Amino acid sequence: MSLSNPYRNAEYGEKLVKAIHSVTTRPWRIMDVCGGQAHAIAKYNLEDRLPKEIQIIHGPGCPVCVTPQYTIDSAIQFALKHQAILLSFGDMLRVPGSDYDLLKAKSMGGDIRIIYSPLDALRIAQENPHREVVLFAIGFETTAPIHAQVVLEADRLSIRNLSLLTALFAVPPIIEHLCSLPDFKVDGILAAGHVCAITGLSEYNRLAEQYHIPFTVTGFEPVDILLGIYTNILQLERKRYNVENPYARMVSHGGNSKAMTVLNKVFQPATQEWRGLGSIPMTGFTLRRSFSAFDACRRFKTLHPVNCKKESCIAGEIMKGLATPKSCPHFAIGCRPELPLGAPMVSSEGVCAAYYRYRKHA
Ligand code: SF4
Repeated sequence: MSLSNPYRNAEYGEKLVKAIHSVTTRPWRIMDVCGGQAHAIAKYNLEDRLPKEIQIIHGPGCPVCVTPQYTIDSAIQFALKHQAILLSFGDMLRVPGSDYDLLKAKSMGGDIRIIYSPLDALRIAQENPHREVVLFAIGFETTAPIHAQVVLEADRLSIRNLSLLTALFAVPPIIEHLCSLPDFKVDGILAAGHVCAITGLSEYNRLAEQYHIPFTVTGFEPVDILLGIYTNILQLERKRYNVENPYARMVSHGGNSKAMTVLNKVFQPATQEWRGLGSIPMTGFTLRRSFSAFDACRRFKTLHPVNCKKESCIAGEIMKGLATPKSCPHFAIGCRPELPLGAPMVSSEGVCAAYYRYRKHA
């Protein structure tokens, strides 16, 4: 930890570790729902500093990891069969599809380009008026608004050769789904700060009350995470089930209403397939009917998922808190970053990649 960044301050971190030890009287299972937090927990070895009674569970916090296999297969089809320019974040390229990944499809001649902002799609579509351009639009509420902005801009500029292949996931609804599962044994939840900055906190207030689970809005630096855990444990020990926001420097109660307005203008809630968790009603976003001309599956008539191979990856069990990366029989043996069997070993936000990179696995 560094002294210059107050949220990496070792002295403050030590105080929080001591405070967590002093308030913990019994076992608690705390879930993070953010790949960035999972990586910080592994990188700063925070789990080992916590009381042995506290177990950290890693929920569905990485959109790349939960993008369904068949959506990757569709992306490959658009690039190879339909000769479209496929635009994707770099993380997606090594996530396994049914037979191979986008990187292999690129080596087979697919015009697959890495982008750093979804807005790049507008320029690329304008520069290639005689080609179809497909934007692989993945993410949570954090990136859905900018994908919505791309659609609005494309509509305004009459760009007709651009469409979206969407895998957009809604975080509060998937947390509610997990909370409703009979085998969900989590006591407290660290709500991801960047998602809360967009959605606001009202949904979490409802969930805390309904499921008797305390939520703590948590950032990504080690001090943020320790503060989130401390605040959560304190609530549990006092039998309180509220939403607390120690990350108020970034998150307001109402969220970002402008971003949510743009998102809701272009997308509507829909059933979404989550890799490892299955198809869950109202946990994703799909284009509204008025923007269906921008739907790549509709444009290329790929409305039904292709058959997918059964996966040996147990990411779904990990996301439900029923397993950890280290309890996966493939971890660091058959599944490594250079030879991933599942998405969580590929993505920069994947929990298996975090365990592999930062924790001893020999
Ligand atoms: S180690 Fe590999 S196979 Fe096992 S859960 Fe993680 S990504 Fe999936």
